[in-house]
Amino acid sequence: MTAAEDLPAAGGATSAAHAERIAGAAAARRRARPPLLAIRDVTKVFGRDVVALRGMTLDVRQGDFISLLGPSGCGKSTALKLISGLIHPTAGRIEWLGGASAQDGDLGVVFQEPTLMPWATVAQNVWLPMRLKGRSFAACRAEIDEALATVGLAGFEAAYPRELSGGMKMRVSIARALVTRPRLILMDEPFAALDEITRFKLNNDLLEMRAKLDCTVIFVTHSVFESVFLSDRIVVMAARPGRVIRELTVDEPYPRTEDFRTSADYAAHCRETSAALHEAMGDAPHDDH
Ligand code: ADP
Ligand code: MG
Repeated sequence: MTAAEDLPAAGGATSAAHAERIAGAAAARRRARPPLLAIRDVTKVFGRDVVALRGMTLDVRQGDFISLLGPSGCGKSTALKLISGLIHPTAGRIEWLGGASAQDGDLGVVFQEPTLMPWATVAQNVWLPMRLKGRSFAACRAEIDEALATVGLAGFEAAYPRELSGGMKMRVSIARALVTRPRLILMDEPFAALDEITRFKLNNDLLEMRAKLDCTVIFVTHSVFESVFLSDRIVVMAARPGRVIRELTVDEPYPRTEDFRTSADYAAHCRETSAALHEAMGDAPHDDH
């Protein structure tokens, strides 16, 4: 914590000034982070003329929590797939900086569906990325147990996916993404299928995990509330063609708790983000899927 955050808040104007100093300190910390990934004017065209993403430029810094926020079809998943190296840009480039790479366990990915192997136990599912690198289950056991403890699933190592709730399955999927201690975690609408209470709980826990692992997160969502709660940078996108419209910052200090979720500052950020999203959607023809 910085000195600015340690100052006691007094009432009235002093407290507004205090809030401003905290936001200023958070912004300064955010800008001082070293670069991790440079996305430069990236375009992805599928087939002849489906422009899934047009001219995306984004500097990702170590320790950022970035949300890609936008309506269906604005290229959010395409952006994540490009970053993960699963697909390649039609034009533009993506560069890893500071010695990281999409290989070597520096990257973890969480999809909307937990995509667990039903015939394997929770621990065996989490072992997968290490198994693919030829490491034995026994050799990975300590790391698997630690990842499961991090996501709150200690004691469920021997359970099978069918025995778990939707939220717990997603926790397994997150454990599998973070077991290699990646520098960057990509999450594609991971909580969209969960009920609101479970989603809030997972949002809180995700921030705790992130603080513990000290990693960078790029998180895809179409929820304004989720993006503001989690991120310090929000990239607002529009569809047809998929593109970035605006970037907003949420310079509120972490840890963020239920107090933040019910604060006036949170509501103000949500209003601003919601307005930006409406602007983005107003630009595009209506989604007729
Ligand atoms: P989002 O995740 O924001 O909903 P996507 O990145 O999945 O959006 O898709 C962006 C656009 O690209 C959509 O119009 C989608 O139909 C199209 N698209 C995505 N993947 C493919 C593909 N493999 N082939 C053809 N079109 C695709
Ligand atoms: Mg998608």
